[in-house]
Amino acid sequence: MSQTIDIIGAGLTGPLMAIYLSRKGFKVRLHEGRDDMRKAAVGAGRSINLALTARGMQSLDEVGLKEPVMQLCIPMTGRMVHDLAGKTVLQPYGQTAAEVIYAVSRGRLNMLLLDAAAANKNVEIFFNRRCRSYDVDSNTLVFDDSGVETKVQVDVVIGADGAWSPTRRGMMAKLDHFNYAQEYLDYDYKELTIPPAKDGGFRIARDVLHIWPHKSFMMIALPNTEGSFTCTLFYPRKGPGSFETLNTPAAVEAFFNEKFPDAAAHMPDLTREFFSNPTGALVTVKCSPWHARGKAVLVGDAAHALVPFFAQGMNSGFEDCRVLNGLIAADEKDWEGVFTRFTAARKANADAIADMAVENFIEMRDLVTDPHFILKKKVGFELEKRWPGKFIPRYSMVVFRADIPYAEAQRRGRLQDKVLEKICANISSPEQVDWEKAGELLQNIA
Ligand SMILES: Cc1cc2nc3c(=O)[nH]c(=O)nc-3n(C[C@H](O)[C@H](O)[C@H](O)COP(=O)(O)OP(=O)(O)OC[C@H]3O[C@@H](n4cnc5c(N)ncnc54)[C@H](O)[C@@H]3O)c2cc1C
Repeated sequence: MSQTIDIIGAGLTGPLMAIYLSRKGFKVRLHEGRDDMRKAAVGAGRSINLALTARGMQSLDEVGLKEPVMQLCIPMTGRMVHDLAGKTVLQPYGQTAAEVIYAVSRGRLNMLLLDAAAANKNVEIFFNRRCRSYDVDSNTLVFDDSGVETKVQVDVVIGADGAWSPTRRGMMAKLDHFNYAQEYLDYDYKELTIPPAKDGGFRIARDVLHIWPHKSFMMIALPNTEGSFTCTLFYPRKGPGSFETLNTPAAVEAFFNEKFPDAAAHMPDLTREFFSNPTGALVTVKCSPWHARGKAVLVGDAAHALVPFFAQGMNSGFEDCRVLNGLIAADEKDWEGVFTRFTAARKANADAIADMAVENFIEMRDLVTDPHFILKKKVGFELEKRWPGKFIPRYSMVVFRADIPYAEAQRRGRLQDKVLEKICANISSPEQVDWEKAGELLQNIA
């Protein structure tokens, strides 16, 4: 008889994990606290659209969903950096036509994943079934099932229940030496909209990720297929010049007109949205181990919540699903071994992307307008062209390469940065680079 696996959470990673496991022949019960978003007008939670990149795409491809997901996507070829005068400069993400990232609606992607999971006879999905607690000792889950408390005895639990995972809480309560750390940024975020133009078209350039950098804060905008953009303001939480001080419609209008004039001109509903949309927090969560006695394991944000500045939260969660699936045999008996190997394969990589994501906030809000940073980017691209494989920009390793683990991208990125700093010291344009010497310096990178 096939084993049953209970997955908590039908956000982005839960349904994908269910699809993987059902294809192996497991029976899967997927428990989601919210209503079925395909039927009810429920919000999909955080962030309206997301950037999908190579790691996430590879997992979707493995389960045959790449093509349908691509139908929902808009490619973004680079960062369009806006200045105060409304002048824009495009900083390409990569060097080839394939080196793009994809904007996708979180809600539509989630619904597609739910449909694909539900289409499989091995998968049963329960909505409005909020997990109240998980007891590792007895391996039981307690649910609030549309208002009725139900207790379910389980064999194997996968916690895909997000940054505030009840599965992880249960593990923390019963495991010795369970490490847990959460760290908030002093910044919050707010999502706003640039609606489509009257003729249904896009009001600003479509195939890019827009950034309005202001050194200590920024706004970004990602395109949606129906012609709108979802803008996200990342701004200090407290103090002078913070969400606290944006407390009247006049203050908000004045702030946007001063700091993001060319965006504000396209935001007719700005003040209403600003005061009705929630303000979100930005948190990094790290924990270990990710598993409990061969009974439970965590994937996605439950194991490692990231700040969004490398656009890798969902992508790394999808990568978790692929790696975990690769370790499980169809008639798996040694769950403890699988979960231990999974944690060993993933933990250092999750820590690496968590740290790189925090660093990338500084790059996006500040460095994108810094001449030395721009020079290094250009020289980096030229090194990649001249010595392909020997130099790969860190951004490309993280975002375009599913075959380079995050920890390796971080390690190589540091070594490459040292070389770039040497090459770019005392020059102001790529034409001044001594390429022979640059080639020699590259040989030190192993
Ligand atoms: C502003 C912002 C922008 C982002 N942009 C990107 C991006 O561009 N690219 C990217 O890759 N990532 C991005 N992310 C990160 C991404 O949103 C997350 O990494 C991703 O949603 C994690 O998926 P998950 O399935 O692990 O968790 P979630 O998507 O949070 O899903 C968890 C699910 O569990 C359910 N649940 C929770 N508690 C219970 C319970 N007690 N019982 C039952 N069900 C429960 C929830 O309702 C939810 O459906 C962004 C995040 C933010 C905040």
